[in-house]
Amino acid sequence: QFLYHTLSGTKIAKSIRDEANQEIEQIRARVPGFKPTLKIFQIGTRPDSSAYVRMKLKSSEESGVHCNVEKLPENISEVELLNKIDDVNKNDAVHGILIQLPLPKHLDETKITNSVLHTKDVDGFHRYNAGELSKKGGEPMFIPCTPNGCIRLLKEAGVNLRGKNAVVLGRSDIVGTPVSSLLKNMDATVTVCHSHTTNLPEILSQADVVVAACGRANYVKGEWLKEGAIVIDVGINYIPDSTKKSGQRLVGDVDYESAKKKASFITPVPGGVGPMTIAMLVQNVLLAAKRQLSDSNKT
Ligand code: NDP
Repeated sequence: QFLYHTLSGTKIAKSIRDEANQEIEQIRARVPGFKPTLKIFQIGTRPDSSAYVRMKLKSSEESGVHCNVEKLPENISEVELLNKIDDVNKNDAVHGILIQLPLPKHLDETKITNSVLHTKDVDGFHRYNAGELSKKGGEPMFIPCTPNGCIRLLKEAGVNLRGKNAVVLGRSDIVGTPVSSLLKNMDATVTVCHSHTTNLPEILSQADVVVAACGRANYVKGEWLKEGAIVIDVGINYIPDSTKKSGQRLVGDVDYESAKKKASFITPVPGGVGPMTIAMLVQNVLLAAKRQLSDSNKT
């Protein structure tokens, strides 16, 4: 049996925030007005969205990134929202724009995410960035935060992905698809599984690296894994738990207890990919602000 290692996203995320802080201080010593700024639009009052927005705000502030949250009414019209985004697109004092998803049903998510200027699209959901990411040798302005966080965790584990078998569970635009592009670009041999995949345990038995993003609580069993696999668990699922005050408990897409017996590295939930996602957002805002600075130095 392998001695498994837990990959603590919480710890790595903190070091990323500290690095961001230092870098901002250093730049500010040369350019006193340097103020990386993120604008978040939250439409409606979904409690999960409010919690994510609060975490993004807190993490930004801890990193020295200025964050402005604008809460908009649930019934805002598409035109009104598009106008608001357009105003921020044109505002040089804002470097990154994030539209908290999901949006209320009457708003077209594709249209709204594509309306963010691709140079300020710190979530990486704009079609320019998504398209560039899927190309071999493409050049996205930003890599989406959750997939980028998964790759950073793999780097922290010291994994060389070249020639490795990587299996991704899920093919969403937000996680599964971009994470598979990143793994492919790092020379892994990638298999993408989804709800129609019939022989998952067989596929997983060959996987050196597993990224689970299928949104199913404790779904991936340790018995399905290859001895020594590296397991990145993206899932965020709440299951009933009468021992908790809230009556529920957070678990991933991987059955941690059985998986840790097979894995060499595994990320916990909570404390794995979640905090990394938010740290990557901060990194993207800083990147956007630095690009603006170097562009203004050229002119
Ligand atoms: P989606 O619901 O958009 O996508 C789920 C994907 O999993 C789909 O592609 C689906 O297939 C696939 N799937 C469903 N069942 C199976 C199965 N049995 N085997 C293999 N694949 C399956 O979810 P997201 O991609 O948005 O999120 C995935 C998980 O990650 C969720 O738990 C979510 O909460 C979490 N998450 C965590 C984040 C973080 O920061 N930690 C950020 C974003 C998401 P099909 O395409 O056929 O329907």
